[in-house]
Amino acid sequence: MSVTGLCEICENRTAEYSCPQCGAVVCEKHFDEEFGACMRCAPARGPSQEHEPSEGEDFDTFQL
Ligand SMILES: [Zn+2]
Ligand SMILES: [Zn+2]
Repeated sequence: MSVTGLCEICENRTAEYSCPQCGAVVCEKHFDEEFGACMRCAPARGPSQEHEPSEGEDFDTFQL
């Protein structure tokens, strides 16, 4: 693991992956593991539909 530097996309996180397509180093958030490339090279998935799991599960109090 000798990938050092910041993600070329967000420039905020530490780059942990290098895209085999364009050679960009990106963080884990901007690397599509399924496609095996960075988010730039990975095919777009719909019109910016981000389905991030909501942090902090909302447990509604079920009161009957
Ligand atoms: Zn990033
Ligand atoms: Zn790429």
